[in-house]
Amino acid sequence: MPSATILGDSDGDVRMAGTLLREGQLIALPTETVYGLAGNALLEDTVRQIFTVKGRPLIDPLILHVHEWKQVESITAEIPPHARKLAEAFWPGPLTLILPKADCVSDLVTAGNPTVAVRMPAHPLARRILQAADVPLAAPSANPFGYISPTCAAHVMDSLGERLSWIVDGGPCQAGIESTIVDVSRPDAVRLLRPGPLSPDALSATLDGLPISTHTPQDAAKPAAPGLLARHYSPNTPLCLVSHGEQPPEAPEGRCAWVATSRQQAESSPSGYDRYWFSETGDPEDIARTLFAMLRKLDTLEHSRIYIELPPANGIGLALIDRLTRAAAR
Ligand code: AMP
Ligand code: MG
Repeated sequence: MPSATILGDSDGDVRMAGTLLREGQLIALPTETVYGLAGNALLEDTVRQIFTVKGRPLIDPLILHVHEWKQVESITAEIPPHARKLAEAFWPGPLTLILPKADCVSDLVTAGNPTVAVRMPAHPLARRILQAADVPLAAPSANPFGYISPTCAAHVMDSLGERLSWIVDGGPCQAGIESTIVDVSRPDAVRLLRPGPLSPDALSATLDGLPISTHTPQDAAKPAAPGLLARHYSPNTPLCLVSHGEQPPEAPEGRCAWVATSRQQAESSPSGYDRYWFSETGDPEDIARTLFAMLRKLDTLEHSRIYIELPPANGIGLALIDRLTRAAAR
């Protein structure tokens, strides 16, 4: 089967992407978080195809991407005050809000929930394409369900290239991990459903110190966010997590990789490991940008095990620990 055609950022390519999307084609495109597999959210057949291409279970609802407030209003029944404040502070950006849905949003998009997940991305090329398409786009990460999220066009080509006709190349993603998701659909509480680039502290500060609940009651039949599934973002090679500041075991069994947060930490490991580091200095934002690319690269190198040092548990580090813990789950 022929592989996908790559589009760029020329006005002609953006116009074409917009038309194809509006007419119901799927296109993988860059956002500031990860690459998304985008389709017209108002066309049921297109939405169904997104699930099929990813192998995503229908219980796992999709995020709708928009470029202006008029679109937010068209897909929601109501915008509660907390939601408006957070959107004003962080949109466009890596924040997804769970809001009461409008009738035009199908149950397929929301997995039967009365709420819809909405995000206004900041990536300039994503915004131009959204504007050209002029419809809300459903866009989960452009990877087979459960595998490592894509942070550049080559990642999408590697794992979905034969199942897609179009990939827009916008270079590497700036944040590198998926959006922070908060449920603002209830007046009494703001709940964090998935940690991401924006920390709960940053959200709370915008809401005059209102506590952000990080306790998410699990409903096995209907997870509030698929990020909550125990196993996700997973390479095929087994991962073993090491606490921040610690080293892997003295004598590795077989050929093992050691990925530290910084170069210094990598180079001071016991001998016998293939050594890597996420960031020269251990900067958590750098780690976020390189996390998924590193996991993908290592997954091609046939190690018997990959040891990974966790970052410190604050700010974006909380989201990185969340992704790594799920990536390591078996
Ligand atoms: P992904 O597209 O893979 O980044 O995942 C989208 C995330 O948004 C998933 O974790 C979904 O469960 C979450 N999500 C989408 N719609 C809803 C909703 N209506 N209620 C709660 N979570 C949602
Ligand atoms: Mg995903």
